Amino acid sequence: MGTFTGSFKGFGVTFAHMFRKVVTTDYPFSPPKPAPRYHGRHILNRHPDGLEKCIGCELCAWACPADAIYVEGGDNTDEQRFSPGERYASIYQINYARCIFCGLCIEACPTRSLTMSNEYELARDNRQDLIFTKKELLAPLLPGMEQPPHPMRLGETDKDYYLGALDNPGTSKGAERAPWATNEVVDGSGEAAKEGVR
Ligand code: SF4
Ligand code: SF4
Repeated sequence: MGTFTGSFKGFGVTFAHMFRKVVTTDYPFSPPKPAPRYHGRHILNRHPDGLEKCIGCELCAWACPADAIYVEGGDNTDEQRFSPGERYASIYQINYARCIFCGLCIEACPTRSLTMSNEYELARDNRQDLIFTKKELLAPLLPGMEQPPHPMRLGETDKDYYLGALDNPGTSKGAERAPWATNEVVDGSGEAAKEGVR
């Protein structure tokens, strides 16, 4: 009798689930969208003229509890300028085999260069590819932006960039979300192209 009751209960659970909303997602064809403030892959943002916001100060690397960030600063010159002011990041790496997505690095960044997107497709089949460099992390060039190195276009000094930054923050539109989240891909020239879900 006990066995019969137990089986009945077990089948009852199965039966009840047949009428519940399906939670299976059609991944990777229709990836689920995370919450807007989800902590995903980092972005190194640009000023509205295309210069990099990162000044190579290493504060993000010092704040990181997982030792996941490596930065080497370089000197800007009048001929080779990558950011306003004296310094830029000549090497910038984030090791996603170490990162725990805590966000302490973006809190530490004094220029709002470093922010996080909500892209979560970061799995790779080897550890080397989990080390993202400036090539992967820099925000794409938007229309009106120019590929550095180039002179400062928005003022004479770096102060002209930072004092007016709140009025003209130079958002990295197209980079703050994973391309599939907006169905829009921004290529290196800043042109946004519609793309189907990949
Ligand atoms: S999110 Fe956290 S663990 Fe990842 S790089 Fe930033 S500080 Fe380090
Ligand atoms: S991302 Fe921000 S904190 Fe890190 S080196 Fe660049 S400016 Fe400094």
